[in-house]
Amino acid sequence: MQNTTTATARPLRSIGGVRANRAGRNPTMHEMALMRTVVDTVLDYAGKVDAVEVKTVYLTIGLNRDVVEAYMDSMFAFLARGTIAEHADLVVRRTPYTVACNQCGRIFHIDVYDATTWVCPRCKTERDYKLHSGMEFAFNNIEVVLPEQAEARSQELAG
Ligand SMILES: [Zn+2]
Repeated sequence: MQNTTTATARPLRSIGGVRANRAGRNPTMHEMALMRTVVDTVLDYAGKVDAVEVKTVYLTIGLNRDVVEAYMDSMFAFLARGTIAEHADLVVRRTPYTVACNQCGRIFHIDVYDATTWVCPRCKTERDYKLHSGMEFAFNNIEVVLPEQAEARSQELAG
């Protein structure tokens, strides 16, 4: 399940508004919606393969995604309560926000709130780049226990 974002990174126009929203929003609502999607996807997958338990969920989340990682574990546990994913571990990899210069190909970090970073450090071209990383939201892997594995394990325990 790979998810590649190809959108072009542009400096945001309504920077002031975005900042105000960020500061003013209730941080938990956003993560809650996101984790709801994660739990749904995980359970959907687990259902398709007839898993009896979800062990580990591996996610890649770009650093430019507005996500507070500290909330994720507890929200996942809360939303997955009573399901086979209830005790699953979340393993999150964050990728930095970088762009690739359209002129020379140099990959560099930008800060969407700082215009001085929108210039290629090698060829000095301004605002001519495409997103390289930082907006990902992808599942790398979902580890599950299948019925036959669970059976093998209980036999081991019994023996
Ligand atoms: Zn360049």
